[in-house]
Amino acid sequence: MDNTQSSKEGSLRDLIPINHPRRESLLIREKLVEALKDNVLTPSGLIAHGRGECFDYLFGEKTQDFAKKAIEAASATLLLAKNPVISVNGNMAALVPKELIELANLINAKLEINLFYRSEERLKAIKNVLIKNGAKEVLGVDDELTTIPELFSERRKVSKNGIFIADVVLLALEDGDRTEALVKMNKKVIAIDLNPLSRTSKAANITIVDNIIRAIPLMIQKVNELKNYNTGQLREIIENYDNKKIILDSLKFISGRFQEFSLSL
Ligand code: ATP
Repeated sequence: MDNTQSSKEGSLRDLIPINHPRRESLLIREKLVEALKDNVLTPSGLIAHGRGECFDYLFGEKTQDFAKKAIEAASATLLLAKNPVISVNGNMAALVPKELIELANLINAKLEINLFYRSEERLKAIKNVLIKNGAKEVLGVDDELTTIPELFSERRKVSKNGIFIADVVLLALEDGDRTEALVKMNKKVIAIDLNPLSRTSKAANITIVDNIIRAIPLMIQKVNELKNYNTGQLREIIENYDNKKIILDSLKFISGRFQEFSLSL
């Protein structure tokens, strides 16, 4: 981070009262606005974040039990994976770059950039963010690419050495088409998505209904905890996991919040 950026953030931190109930959320928005200026994000990335914020509000901006259970199953799956890949987009690079690299190092996963609004400038800008934060290798930019069958968006372009051969793909803020296509290719898909109603949430094998800001650090913690488990113990966690139940629990939580709110009027 350069001095201009830190002084901008510094002044913003001073501007938003410490006890402002939306302080953290406003600081995150500012990070995304900076990422937009740096070409890491597109304006639609801001809109996608807004949709996520709305759901996060309903979840009390906290990681709920259903997300904790999904994080545990996801961590076990990543530890058992042979070729795990973390698919990175602009929002992820803007909000959790360091954490993504820490997680990738822990589980020996590759980092691959995959964008809906793909351009050379954005690919380079995102790659730079990851390299600056310590990534040694970033796929999906200047290595050999191939295409995912049946997909027509720019997201169909994947690295031959990354997502194309991956057995497990971790993604977030993803569109349903690609999630469905990856599942059809027999890959285990772990999705972090605050919207339990999205096509991605429905299609993924493991759906973490949580904010990437909290989910990725919690996955790092969980992987560290589970890394001493043996294969049998990790398999047991995965076998006992029921993604449909997790999504239903998140929907029940939301309806409970509406009831709670109506009663408080
Ligand atoms: P689908 O095609 O799967 O139905 P979509 O069209 O809603 O999904 P996008 O418009 O790309 O997909 O939106 C990205 C998704 O990411 C939204 O569902 C939004 O709730 C979610 N999201 C936004 N910000 C975050 C965040 N910080 N952490 C986790 N999820 C987020």
